[in-house]
Amino acid sequence: MRNVSGFYLGGFGLGESIEERSALLNAVTNILPEEKIRFVSRLGLPEEVLQGVAAGIDLFDSTYIYHLTLGGFALVFPLDILGEAPEALLRNSSNDYTKINLHATIYRKDTSPIVDKCSCYTCQNHTRAYLNHLLNVHEMLAQILLEIHNTHHYLGFFRSIRRALMQEKFELFRERFMESRRVHLTEAVPYS
Ligand SMILES: [Zn+2]
Repeated sequence: MRNVSGFYLGGFGLGESIEERSALLNAVTNILPEEKIRFVSRLGLPEEVLQGVAAGIDLFDSTYIYHLTLGGFALVFPLDILGEAPEALLRNSSNDYTKINLHATIYRKDTSPIVDKCSCYTCQNHTRAYLNHLLNVHEMLAQILLEIHNTHHYLGFFRSIRRALMQEKFELFRERFMESRRVHLTEAVPYS
């Protein structure tokens, strides 16, 4: 085999079902050398990232944050998934476990940051109400501020995954994330 730095896996995220995908990913990653980086594209949703990591993927590229931001969504799921009691995870956010839509009228007078204690520039300086206003008047700054938060939050998600892997608690991490997500999806979800 040629001495390459890593392997790029294409052809995923093209309509295969979630159930099929694990078997397909594993079929590929099982025969790749452990020490070389595996990079997959088109898998960007949190569930897809967790599925990829479980199959031994190291790197992802995706347009998830871009599309999320375009729709006026902000990521709000707790990042300390292993540290919190499962019930706290479920109570923690409104309408959908992972995100809120700041276009919604309920944020018009909401003077809290997108995520309490988030250290990103947007949460440190602006409120949900301000972002709701910017979105409603189609001000370009809305996308910029939202993308800052979403990128920051998603990088935090990847950091949590790495921490869980180092503590050998990745399966627990994945289970808890999927479980809280599933509970929310079975409830009424106005903005997903
Ligand atoms: Zn933030």
